[in-house]
Parts: sequence; structure tokens; C-alpha cells
Amino acid sequence: MAGKEKRKVDIYDTTLRDGTQAEEVSLQMRDKISITHKLDELGIDYIEGGWPGSNPKDMEFFEAAKNLKLDNSRITAFGSTRRKGIKAADDPQIAALLKASDVVTIFGKSWHLHVKEALRTTLEENLEMIHDSVSYLKANSDIVFYDAEHFFDGYKDNPGYAIDTLKAANDAGANCLVLCDTNGGTLPGEIVSIVEDVQKQLPSAPLGAHMHNDSECAVANTLVLLRMGGVHVQGTINGWGERCGNANLCSIIPALDLKMGFETSIGKQKLLRLREISRTISEYANMTPDSHQPYVGRSAFAHKGGVHVSAMQRNKQTYEHIEPELVGNRTRVLLSDLSGRSNVIFKAQEFGVELDDKDPAIAEVLEQIKDLENKGFLYESAEASFELLLKKALGKHRRFFSLKGFRVIDEKREWDRPPLSEATIMVDVEGSIEHTAAIGQGPVDAMNAALRKALTKFYPVLEEVRLLDYKVRILPEDKGTAAVTRVIIESGDGSSKWSTVGVSENILEAS
Ligand SMILES: [Zn+2]
Repeated sequence: MAGKEKRKVDIYDTTLRDGTQAEEVSLQMRDKISITHKLDELGIDYIEGGWPGSNPKDMEFFEAAKNLKLDNSRITAFGSTRRKGIKAADDPQIAALLKASDVVTIFGKSWHLHVKEALRTTLEENLEMIHDSVSYLKANSDIVFYDAEHFFDGYKDNPGYAIDTLKAANDAGANCLVLCDTNGGTLPGEIVSIVEDVQKQLPSAPLGAHMHNDSECAVANTLVLLRMGGVHVQGTINGWGERCGNANLCSIIPALDLKMGFETSIGKQKLLRLREISRTISEYANMTPDSHQPYVGRSAFAHKGGVHVSAMQRNKQTYEHIEPELVGNRTRVLLSDLSGRSNVIFKAQEFGVELDDKDPAIAEVLEQIKDLENKGFLYESAEASFELLLKKALGKHRRFFSLKGFRVIDEKREWDRPPLSEATIMVDVEGSIEHTAAIGQGPVDAMNAALRKALTKFYPVLEEVRLLDYKVRILPEDKGTAAVTRVIIESGDGSSKWSTVGVSENILEAS
């Protein structure tokens, strides 16, 4: 694209409206405000706040949004064309849009089937509804986007009429004609032939994309339409939305900025925060982030196979489509019984240990990982345990204490009070025996308290350490052995976090 002006694409987020149609998503007012700030920080051009005419809660958001200080984004109000048989100027739903914001998006019907079945009006009246609504809004606000609902399905059924609806909006002065694949069933090849025809019949109209993901093509369809000349893209953070979701902005934005040579308001600098913002918005929406989500997922750049890792050490491009740092992600090397020597060397570097390729410790560590993973250990998610294993193999491990024994008693005396756990523990710290007892809410908590009591005397730094997460999994019985419990504990001290793994038939010993 050398010498050519980059084409600017506007990014329009509909997480707060279409995204909340997802089955699990429900946002309170304060969540919507927090998400708005994050989208603004990312540099999104337009944030759709909701449908003020349909829902008093949405109107509240627009009132609150007027007082927000946003650096990059404009809030848009969403609604429909006017009702049949009245003037747009007399429609209270249209009036609510103008009250909510000076950027307005309205949807209209492109499919004659919907005009007849859903609107129950004539094809001519529908065209009049589109023209009247767009021109009235255009005269009374700043920007009007026109969402051509069911455009692709409508076109497949009756191309002439679908195009006529676009012409009505275009003639009325819509700033962009947004072609919607509302049912999400259209495939990329169909987008190409339909958009070619639209461009032939409306050569100068600015086009946008609003794609649903029911055929898993929402991102692909969006990128195809933009490649063909589109200037506006609608989507949601993490692809949330009704049924199978909407086009995922977290995949579209990096494609535009890093691969397709477009210009967006996000740009390379704010793109560095993509992963962080995707995760923060998941937190506000109380959604678990998808580890395998492209670009921003925890596993998006995680490598397990030894062959991959050894090639990656020579050149990261061999198995990564972009540098993960560009979207705020990072390469991870996983350790497992599939690992080769290169995984161990790569991992050791992370802990500041330079291993020679021929170091016998590598084979020893691999042997141990294989053996322990057979017993149920999992080193992929317990990097601190791997560090201990490695240091032992290298003779660099220091034993800070050894466990002599423990006992835990659970006692419930009164039916309306929780049981109490009491633990005693005996440890040997460099020759001196410590014997302590502690109570806790449950046996693990009591053990944790007793162990801390015994050790903080010698290692006061442990006072800073907190237990952050505790995961238990019962592994099935295998080849004559009883079922075992695997415990993965995440700990942290305010500045760093680490995970350790333990396995035993007994959950306390595993912990
Ligand atoms: Zn939609």
C-alpha cells in the first residue's frame, strides 16, 4: 500500500445494546458506565448506548452519559423507523432518539417478507417510513446511521426491493448504509456478490457492516465488506450477542490495524491495551474470558508441542501470526509430558536460568514431568512447581523446611453453627522443630494458618503472601489406583503471582 493514503474505518461498538442480548450478559447501570469509559480509552469512535424509546433504563443511561467526559467516543442512540401512518415528527420513539443523543442509528426493513408479516404494511409505505425517518432525524441531529436490517436475506429473496430500501435511506441523507446480516446465515462468497451489486447501484454511498455469527463468519464477512470499500464496522467486545454472538471487535480491530493497512482511531498505540480492556470488560459483565479467543485469549499464543517450541526459539514467526505484544498478549510455553528439551530451556530462561542444550538436567526434568503427570500433576498451570523441579535437578534448590506431620480435626457441635476445624502441624526448620496449632474455616484454611504460624517466625516475608485461588479436581481411578485429588493453588505477594500443584488420594496432603 506504499504511497497510498490509508482508508479510515469507523469503529462502532454495540456491546451495550446488541451485546447484552447474549443469554448470560446482564448489565447494571454502573457496569454500562464503566464499560463506556473502557471503550473510550480504547479509542472506539461510536458507542451505542441502547434504545431509549423502548426501555426507560436505556434513557437513564443517556441522561448519565451526557455528564461523562469522553476523549475519543461519541454515544449513539438506537431505534427504528417511524410507525406506519404517522409523520416522523409525531412519533414519540423518534423524539426519544433526538432527546438521547445527536448521533442516531435507526434500523429499517429491507426484506419484503418482514414488511408484510412484521410491519403489516405496503412496500411503498415502508420506503416512505425509511425516507421520512432518516430525513427528519438528519435535519434535527448531527449524524444518522441507517441499519438495513435483514439486508442480505432480503436481497436474496427480492434484490430489487432490498436495494430500493437502501436508496430511500441514501436519498434522505444517511451518513452510512449499514448492511446487516441479522440472522447470521450469510457466507463470505455471498457477501462479495451482493455488495458488488450494491456498489454498482449506489456507487457513492458509504457502506458499513453489522454481522451476526450464526455461521461463524461474522468476522470474515465484516473484513470482506471492508476490503470491498466499507468505511464503518459494528461489532461487540469479545463477540457477545444474541444466539451465537456478533462480529467480534477484538478480532476485527487488530486485523484492520496490523494486517489490512486501514486506519482506525485505535491505532497501534492503543491496540497495546486490547487484551487488558477485553478482560476488564469481561469482568464488568461477569463473564469468564475465553482462553482460546483469538488475539486476546490466554492460550492465543501458548505453545505445547516440543517441535513448535524448538522452531519458535529460532524464529517466533514460525508458529505465531502476529507478535502477541502488539495486542498486549504474550507468548507462553507450556510444560507437559508432550514437551521437548526446547520447552524446558525456554521455560528456564523465564526463571533466569540459562541452560546449555546438552545439560543432563534437561533430560532429568523431562523424565520427572512425564512421571509426575502420569500421577496427575499438571505443570502447565503450575509454573512455580516447575521452577522447584528444575532447581532440584540443577542442584540449586534450597529446602527451607521439611514437614514432619500434621493432624486436622473437624468438629460440629451445634446444628445451627458451622463446624470448626483445628489443625496441628510439625515442621523442621534447619534443625529446629516447630509445633503449632491453629483453627480455621474448614480444614485447608486451618492447615494454612498453622503452617504460617510455624514458618513466619523464621521467614517473616511470608506475612505478605496471600492465597488467591484454590482449585480442586478429582481425577478418575486409573489402572488399579484409587481416584486422586489434584489441587492447584495460586498465591501472590502483591507484586507477583505464582501457582503450585499437589496430588494425593487425600485432599489435605495434596493441598
Ligand atoms: Zn444485531
